[in-house]
Amino acid sequence: MIAILQVGHDGFRRGPRLQSYPEPDKIIFLPMTANRPQIEDPALQPIAEKVFAGERLNFEEGVALFKSSDLLALGYLAHHVREKLHGKRTYFNVNRHINPTNVCVASCKLCAFGRKPDAPGAYTMALEEAYRIAGENWSEAVTEFHIVGGLHPDLPFQYYLDLLRGLKERFPGVHLKAFTAVEIGYYAHMTRRPVREILRQMKDAGLDSLPGGGAEIFAPRVRRVICDHKIGAYTWLKVHRLAHELGMHSNATMLYGHIESDEDRVDHLLQLRKLQDETHGFQTFIPLAFHPANTELGKLVPHTETTGFMDLKNVAVARLLLDNFPHIKAYWIMMTPRVAQIALRFGADDIDGTVVEEKIYHDAGARTPQSLTRQELIRLIREAGCEPFERDTLYHPVTRTETTVTVHV
Ligand code: SF4
Repeated sequence: MIAILQVGHDGFRRGPRLQSYPEPDKIIFLPMTANRPQIEDPALQPIAEKVFAGERLNFEEGVALFKSSDLLALGYLAHHVREKLHGKRTYFNVNRHINPTNVCVASCKLCAFGRKPDAPGAYTMALEEAYRIAGENWSEAVTEFHIVGGLHPDLPFQYYLDLLRGLKERFPGVHLKAFTAVEIGYYAHMTRRPVREILRQMKDAGLDSLPGGGAEIFAPRVRRVICDHKIGAYTWLKVHRLAHELGMHSNATMLYGHIESDEDRVDHLLQLRKLQDETHGFQTFIPLAFHPANTELGKLVPHTETTGFMDLKNVAVARLLLDNFPHIKAYWIMMTPRVAQIALRFGADDIDGTVVEEKIYHDAGARTPQSLTRQELIRLIREAGCEPFERDTLYHPVTRTETTVTVHV
């Protein structure tokens, strides 16, 4: 027997909404109805009760969330969870993206970035060039380099170790979040060494954590179409599990808005949740909107790009299903600063960083700017009624004066 009691914002009980006899074995306190939006979709009502009771949602409930078009109710529920975890605190960082090469042996249909070695626009940075670019536009001292690239057929593994070592020597205070699980899996394949050994060597060379890219959608049926040259879900999850075992944190992503179903998205999120239950090594989940321009996959998708409705729904559902992920990010590069700002009230607690130079999604037609300043990020957050909180990659607080940057570990 469950009794549901209503409480006001002051915490005082306002009286039972449902009288229960005999004694209930569980009591759920719901905020006053007057303070809650009307939930139009009846399928969301029992889910809302579980969310307010802090209970884990299952596969069927995840599908019901994706199938619902009651976006305001989804947003309200996700914001409730976000506020319970973080209050109004909203994280951002000052970071720089570095893409050392766009040369790639794979030909993923979802991709507009990768090139064959002799294709127009193919490039590979010499190490000195990568170091120079890392230090360019150093107007606001960055605390993170985010480094990802293609699967180059000829670059030796030593190149990546030297890249990490060289960056660490030149920028010792900057966190190196580098190489997706797909890249790590490729280095293991190229060198015929175990993934654990590859990760260990990279960690010794300066690797601090892994980004979340390359996860796309785990369902093999979808993966075969959108990225059949990439590692599968098993290996993606294995790389992250091993990284966590070696003491590194990582992020996770999901590419939505192409040929995947609601069920595929829920399956993807629940596989991430399961690994997180084991390792607790993930920090942040980042839903990524598919950008179809200049991609083969774009020709198979019936729409041009994702809508704001779909973007906000993916943020909200992720917040509701991933109850063991500390952070959900609204990645402004892909969903635009406008939608990312609204997402801060739909479950997201992080708006990513300054980025400085973004190539991957701009090759796929992203019309967002390539960078935002620290002040612009702060404005977006404040305008949404939230409190800006500058973090480093591991969510330590960062404070600045005109001449200093301090990470409070
Ligand atoms: S998505 Fe990554 S692995 Fe696939 S083609 Fe593009 S760069 Fe290569």
